[in-house]
Amino acid sequence: MQSLEAFATARLADLERRAIRRRLVESPRTDAIHITRGGRDLISFCCNDYLNLSHHPRVIAASIEATRAHGVGAGASRLVTGNHPLFAGLEARLARLKGTEDCVVFGSGYLANIGIIPTLAGHGDLLLIDELAHACIWAGGQLSAATMHRFRHNDVGHLAELLATHRAAHGRALILTDGVFSMDGDLAPLGEIASLAEAHDAWLMSDDAHGVGVLADGRGSSHLPGAGRVPLQMGTLSKAIGGYGGYLCASHAVVEVMRTRARSFVYSTGLPPGVVAAASAALDIIATDPVVCARPVKLAQLFTQLCELPVAASPIVPLILGESEAALAASADLAEAGYLVAAIRPPTVPAGTARLRFTFTAGHSEAQVRALAEAVRGLR
Ligand SMILES: *Cc1c(COP(=O)(O)O)cnc(C)c1O
Repeated sequence: MQSLEAFATARLADLERRAIRRRLVESPRTDAIHITRGGRDLISFCCNDYLNLSHHPRVIAASIEATRAHGVGAGASRLVTGNHPLFAGLEARLARLKGTEDCVVFGSGYLANIGIIPTLAGHGDLLLIDELAHACIWAGGQLSAATMHRFRHNDVGHLAELLATHRAAHGRALILTDGVFSMDGDLAPLGEIASLAEAHDAWLMSDDAHGVGVLADGRGSSHLPGAGRVPLQMGTLSKAIGGYGGYLCASHAVVEVMRTRARSFVYSTGLPPGVVAAASAALDIIATDPVVCARPVKLAQLFTQLCELPVAASPIVPLILGESEAALAASADLAEAGYLVAAIRPPTVPAGTARLRFTFTAGHSEAQVRALAEAVRGLR
């Protein structure tokens, strides 16, 4: 026990010294944009609740009604007794939105990726992953025991080289990328990647955690013009959809393999009924309100224009500052001005690229975005 305490204390001291220790801060939210911290009311520009559906009255009502009818928990893995009647409706809605034959819902986006990847690839297979892909894609790759190579961010030439060099020596091959990159807000060149994938008999999966609900009328980045065919469309219910959970939309056969073999599906309890019902209600709003779906990107573009930054392609805008201390100081200055904007530091982003990460939602007003831009210009 002494060595355990010594380990933890030394670890914390080291993280502190490198300015990368993290702390939980209690942050009550009264809706998607108003947040309280340390007794101060702030306007948040760092939630991923892009459509404010976490607080939408119809979504909340659906969740309460389902909880009353079916209880607060699923009670078991979906393959045992946890497959309550609300899952089928949610999976059908997601498959319809994504234009696929079928869909399987997982406990979270993280659980989806660490379940999907090892189910499709194993020892002797090949994974090609964008270097900036989300941490849970890398975690899924590590669990798979397949050979992993990273390609330079959005560099289709590098991906082509890696395929030419390594494809032939491996069995199955999988290309993995975020559709919208979570810390940079840029989009993967899915059309070019899809062509390469087809030419080399590699399977393409995009993680559209930050695209679903906000791009292409809510259908996500793999439905933007020129995106090509993406046979494995993974995403989360925890961001624009407002609640919690993850999914894979794909062919019926692929989805059935997941339901039978993906370990994070088989050996983990099904999502609570209230959470599943909330996601269905949120998807009904997304399917009928393209104007709301488009608003976060519009506001992000207003912000990038006002701050003379590269035009936003998604609701996420990074302002790269370099060292962790600089990002923390800028975040503190903005909090002083009434805005909550998270400082993102290594190891979440590469060393030397600590940043402020702004996200815009359908609930922000243009005036709020203009005032934020004013405050940000004042930082420099
Ligand atoms: C947030 C995120 C996830 C994880 O989703 P959760 O539902 O929060 O577990 C996966 N991939 C990307 C790109 C993300 O941004």
